Amino acid sequence: MQGNRLLLSPGLVFVGGLATVTAWLVALLFFKIADETTLILAGSSGAIGALGGMIGALWLNYTTRHTQEYIALQEHQANHDPLTGLFNRNALFTELEKSIARAQATDTVLGVLFLDLDRFKVINDSMGHEAGDELLRIVAERLEGTVRGGDLVARFGGDEFVVVCRDLLSEQSVLAVANQILKSFTQPVSLYGGAQVVSTSIGIAIARPDDTRRSDDLVRDADAAMYKAKRSKSGFAVFDEVQRLQVIDRLDIERDLVQALEQEQLVVYYQPLIDVKGKRLYGFEALVRWNHPIRGIIGPGDFLGVAEETGMMARIGELVLREACAQAAVWNHLTPDAQGVKMGVNIAEQQLLDGNFPFLVADVLEWSGLPPSQLVLEITENVIVDHLAGLSSLRDIRDMGVNLAIDDFGTGQSSLSYIKQFDMVSTLKVDKTFVDDMSSGVNRAIIEAVVAMARALDMEVVAEGVESEHQVKELLEFGVHIMQGYLFNKPVAGEVIDPSSWFQARDNNGMKHDDRAVPGLSSTEVSRALARNRDHSLPRPKRMG
Ligand code: C2E
Ligand code: MG
Ligand code: MG
Repeated sequence: MQGNRLLLSPGLVFVGGLATVTAWLVALLFFKIADETTLILAGSSGAIGALGGMIGALWLNYTTRHTQEYIALQEHQANHDPLTGLFNRNALFTELEKSIARAQATDTVLGVLFLDLDRFKVINDSMGHEAGDELLRIVAERLEGTVRGGDLVARFGGDEFVVVCRDLLSEQSVLAVANQILKSFTQPVSLYGGAQVVSTSIGIAIARPDDTRRSDDLVRDADAAMYKAKRSKSGFAVFDEVQRLQVIDRLDIERDLVQALEQEQLVVYYQPLIDVKGKRLYGFEALVRWNHPIRGIIGPGDFLGVAEETGMMARIGELVLREACAQAAVWNHLTPDAQGVKMGVNIAEQQLLDGNFPFLVADVLEWSGLPPSQLVLEITENVIVDHLAGLSSLRDIRDMGVNLAIDDFGTGQSSLSYIKQFDMVSTLKVDKTFVDDMSSGVNRAIIEAVVAMARALDMEVVAEGVESEHQVKELLEFGVHIMQGYLFNKPVAGEVIDPSSWFQARDNNGMKHDDRAVPGLSSTEVSRALARNRDHSLPRPKRMG
């Protein structure tokens, strides 16, 4: 429509102008051989010409105005997010560059706040995309209503927003804005009749006037700080020098991790789970460690994040699954007491999302000879909630006879409506944070509710991170009798575990085992031998499609 008008206007102006010129030419010509009729003719031609000219001019005026509006509309669309009307990513970078120049010229501080809504996906999946869109619009309005006049709000993409605070005199002012935003989020959002509490995590990059970072550096750093805020559940986090070094460290880890996989530097440690009431070993949890040639043993918290981001998690996960199942099968061989002892293996989001995962599990069980009933796959609560669609693969795995446990239970955001879909889960692992502070009334209430729910749904409850006799006593009073924690044992290498003593019935609660390796017996070596012997006939994971 606008385009047609744009094409039409020069044509009509031309026709109007042509009519005017022609009319006057005709009038002049006929004036020379004038009689009355020709004069009338000339006069009317002139009048028609003038009218044409006027119409042309009016049209010109109209089309110019509309062309300007059209160009403005085009510009607006190129720079704004259609859903929220906020600046889009492109405009953000352009405006941020201008803001950096202005901050340097005026000697002021600039704050870049990167926001990511917590658990937006859950609302989107459970209430539908329209509710998700509505939520994004409400958040956009809240942000605009919260920030100061000169600040800039942009939608970066999905559920991510960026706020640029300009003309600040101190760094404190940036934190004040972040606090204001967090406060604005405490108000529930009304979505299709129901009230939803939506929270956000904010990463902050602060640029002082002498800062040399460009717009993309600041957004990247604010984004990195946002991840820190999300991990620590602290609301907001500021990108600092330590994090800058961590970014460099991450790059080193990423490079070394590729080698680690090739050079078999990743090893599996095992931590026992004790049935305190039954005075027996209930099972083990397999926990990956990196035996780094220079740094020594590195815990999973320091490298699994990088592995996930770089797509290496699937390989690491498969390695741990194979190693743990082979280890448990070896122990079954070595002592009948080991049979029935569970082996818990943590499963990462990326593994669960792979459609071939159930085939891998089936393959590893067949390869190792471990009965499926001894394997427990531990999946964190949030991963399960985020990927309800992936549950069909979990159902397949459960149907093989493998057990499923929800790890770190209580730290995620599963509501009761989700829990009814957890029917295939056999175990809930109550997170350490609740065990740590059982004097808190809220924590006590949560543990009580979890135990009651687990009983009703016929699930086992395991308490994680048990460190004191006092906790053991309290947990037993709650009816939780399977426990894991430093009180019993830290995670240890497979060869440290002596099947002739570890699998025996226990006669006390504080059953700490020696961490010394047992001479002459290395279960890991045995499991490697088992793997090597079977190597020629190893069924590789069957791939679909
Ligand atoms: P998780 O699965 O909840 O494992 C329990 C963590 O708590 C382990 O930390 C364990 O060493 C620690 N822990 C156990 N008892 C105590 C205690 O009494 N006090 C304290 N302070 N800590 C205790 P770890 O080995 O550092 O593992 C951390 C997390 O890394 C695991 O939490 C799990 O989510 C992840 N992880 C470890 N190995 C793997 C793996 O092979 N694959 C995947 N996907 N994740 C893994
Ligand atoms: Mg676990
Ligand atoms: Mg856990």
